[in-house]
Amino acid sequence: MKGTFPIEQFRQLKTPFYYYDTELLRQTLRVINAEAGKHEGFVVHYAIKANAHPKVLNVICQAGLGADCVSGGEIQRCIETGFAPSKIVYAGVGKSDWEINLGLDKNIFCFNVESVAELEVINELAEKKGKIARICLRINPDVGAHTHAKITTGLAENKFGIAMSDMEAAIERASQMPNIQFIGLHFHIGSQILNMDDFAALCNRINDLQTQLEKKHITIENINVGGGLGIDYHHPNRLPIADFKAYFDTYARFLKLRQGQKLHFELGRAVVAQMGTLIARTLYIKEGTAKKFLIVDAGMTDLIRPALYQAYHKIENISSEEPTETYDVVGPICESSDVFAKSTDVNKAHRGDLIAFRSAGAYGEIMASQYNCRELPKGYITEDL
Ligand SMILES: *Cc1c(COP(=O)(O)O)cnc(C)c1O
Repeated sequence: MKGTFPIEQFRQLKTPFYYYDTELLRQTLRVINAEAGKHEGFVVHYAIKANAHPKVLNVICQAGLGADCVSGGEIQRCIETGFAPSKIVYAGVGKSDWEINLGLDKNIFCFNVESVAELEVINELAEKKGKIARICLRINPDVGAHTHAKITTGLAENKFGIAMSDMEAAIERASQMPNIQFIGLHFHIGSQILNMDDFAALCNRINDLQTQLEKKHITIENINVGGGLGIDYHHPNRLPIADFKAYFDTYARFLKLRQGQKLHFELGRAVVAQMGTLIARTLYIKEGTAKKFLIVDAGMTDLIRPALYQAYHKIENISSEEPTETYDVVGPICESSDVFAKSTDVNKAHRGDLIAFRSAGAYGEIMASQYNCRELPKGYITEDL
């Protein structure tokens, strides 16, 4: 089964481009709000690094989600879109002074702080402005996620967060700083996680940490568990909306929230991946000695995930119903890794056929580069066509 697309409109557009199905995005957001809304104290933020297209952000903002930023540029983009600063959280191991100052000037909800050194700088910069910075400490829970090695973040060997063994001392330091208000703990274990046991393991770890802190009479107002919920890249039509029910229910079941505590989520991929498609045109069919190459006008500069993480994207020839043939689907970039898929079955392709790379709404357009002096791909939402 293939996706349904406005092919006539697509034919008029310069390829490659991204297409964002806003109806699917709105449906996804309704499910997120409904499922999270069943649980007291759950607050959902959108991790804007997954897709920061202004029109996509606008739909997400309208749905009432908060924003999770990892740079000053993202904070700016969110504020331009209309996200309330009181709903913006900001994480990152390497925050520059201007980025911290921007967060302070805008009065964002919270800095997710990744080291004591950073804490000191935030305290100093806040003091200069006569402000109090609200902070959560990002703790590295040493919980492994069963996902690609390049996208785990919660192991002791990763660069993210503060080690659990340093947590109490860091909280104590934060509490002594006059321009810092400690408001909670932050975690994020990785991305494209489909096994709910990984999230349950994080919950168990957080329960232990809470018990440990309560013995020291330290109470936590906010727990932020990051994002990471995965999607089904193999079945974008059958399963266009991720299993948010299982996800939120797992946290409700395993995480022992205290009275009045807020539980924050930062979902990126699961919000936007399935509503996005990269559309390319077929340039040539090249008969190699052992293989047939389907050469398209999109490359790793437009969608880097296959080259970077050997990620899978379902590939469909949306211009052809002819019997399938087996191709290596490749781009025009001068890099051997510029391959979207090897030996994949696609309806027989001809020059000019439109090729869809599915589930490309997250970490697609936003990671595009101009390598080879290429133009950045444009992004269109349904209403643009
Ligand atoms: C990337 C990131 C997220 C979002 O991850 P997804 O896998 O896209 O849901 C959330 N929180 C932080 C801190 C991140 O760096």
